[in-house]
Amino acid sequence: MAEFDTDLFVIGGGSGGVRAARIAAGYGARVMIAEEYRMGGTCVIRGCVPKKLLVYASHFHQEFEDAKGFGWTVPEPTFDWATLIANKDKEIARLEGAYTSTVEKAGAKVVKTRAVLEDAHTVRLATGEKVRARYVLVATGGAPNHGDAIPGIEHVISSNEAFHLPKLPRRIVIQGGGYIALEFACIFAGLGSDVTVIYRGDNILRGFDDDVRSHVRGEMEKEGITLLTTCTVTKVDKHGHEFTSHLSNGSSIASDVVMFAIGRHPNVKGLGLEQAGVAINPKNGGIAVDAFSKTSADNIYAIGDVTHRINLTPVAVREGHAFADTVFGKREVRVDHADIPTAVFCQPEVGTVGLTETQARQALSHVDIYKATFRPMKATLSGRDTRMLMKLVVDGSTDRVVGVHIVGDGAAEMVQVLGIAVKMKATKADFDATMALHPTAAEELVTMRTPFARHVRAAAE
Ligand SMILES: Cc1cc2nc3c(=O)[nH]c(=O)nc-3n(C[C@H](O)[C@H](O)[C@H](O)COP(=O)(O)OP(=O)(O)OC[C@H]3O[C@@H](n4cnc5c(N)ncnc54)[C@H](O)[C@@H]3O)c2cc1C
Repeated sequence: MAEFDTDLFVIGGGSGGVRAARIAAGYGARVMIAEEYRMGGTCVIRGCVPKKLLVYASHFHQEFEDAKGFGWTVPEPTFDWATLIANKDKEIARLEGAYTSTVEKAGAKVVKTRAVLEDAHTVRLATGEKVRARYVLVATGGAPNHGDAIPGIEHVISSNEAFHLPKLPRRIVIQGGGYIALEFACIFAGLGSDVTVIYRGDNILRGFDDDVRSHVRGEMEKEGITLLTTCTVTKVDKHGHEFTSHLSNGSSIASDVVMFAIGRHPNVKGLGLEQAGVAINPKNGGIAVDAFSKTSADNIYAIGDVTHRINLTPVAVREGHAFADTVFGKREVRVDHADIPTAVFCQPEVGTVGLTETQARQALSHVDIYKATFRPMKATLSGRDTRMLMKLVVDGSTDRVVGVHIVGDGAAEMVQVLGIAVKMKATKADFDATMALHPTAAEELVTMRTPFARHVRAAAE
């Protein structure tokens, strides 16, 4: 190994890169990891963690309102954006430090600079220094994608800037119908902004179960968020501190901030991938990899959002760990990408695992649907006009529960645990045999006895 300066060079100190560096170093490999911005990556610095902190902040609004029905007198609450952002930033700085020290304690060397490939074994740092590496792991993540360069696009912010706005916008226009757009819509609405969501499709949350999509839409509208579908922002004008978003339907909306969350692209540009022999997947624009995250170059691997497979933190972490096990731990580990539980931290929250009703009907000949919508107990005294949705998608031939979809308080926590049952191939009979825990909302999941719908595909179909 003397011909190499290091056994592993990791490009990108995010969720996946940090895990891979730490585990590889634990196996005795000499590891270097480069980060051009802040250690911890998207999830820690401008993704899941700060987002969830803002989500918590936004929930207090409803809590204060709901408290009245339970006998509390709450003086008119006031909210200070600057305090929230300062406290959030302090926590993010703490986590950034923890990420750096964990990876250093494991024995890896952190270099705080941009790194690119010069050839398959040579990494060039922004300082000009070159490092010869036996293996390279590309873990550069992704970045917001604003779509077509419409007039006034320079006035539009992404989720990156939303975490650092100097003040809470009184009015915000958010374009996008995916989880990031909706989470920010509910954050800003909960904190007191007037929110309009613009989405080009006919309903939000494309790819989620249709019942979830319509339920969430209805609940968000009840909370005062305006959702405009089948239209797009075509132009943004700036007048002083105010913006006008012109829409494809001919109307326009004034706001203090315009944010786009219409997708993210993998960070592949300017990395020197071509010189290193690393191919791009033409289907998604990410780095093409095999089941072990190996690229078209024998000694180069890629994990996480840069491969554009399933862009979630636990997936990047698992892929990074599997890479280190496979290459340095002498045991081949493939990541199983099926039945990954996911959440949307909008209000009300969404938790989902497995197949949607539409996917199940395409894949299976016999599908049973169990579904309940109900008023949660807390709403009886708070008087809040809200309903929960619980839905089980069952393979009618095997009785296996192949999908669980929940909208309502605690949905994400419930679905993390239900993900185990789905992964273990639990049947509807297993759910039925489980005693209810009363009084909870989740008890509905083990007490739904009669199918809401039965879909049997005709033999010729
Ligand atoms: C607003 C938002 C909310 C999210 N919420 C959730 C959530 O609730 N749950 C969830 O599971 N996922 C969530 N995600 C997705 C999650 O953040 C990503 O899937 C995860 O961070 C991917 O990890 P990664 O290691 O692939 O890349 P990243 O975490 O993006 O890390 C890549 C790192 O590489 C660095 N880098 C890039 N190029 C170079 C270079 N040439 N040299 C050196 N360094 C470089 C970048 O600065 C970055 O730090 C969210 C994302 C966003 C944007």
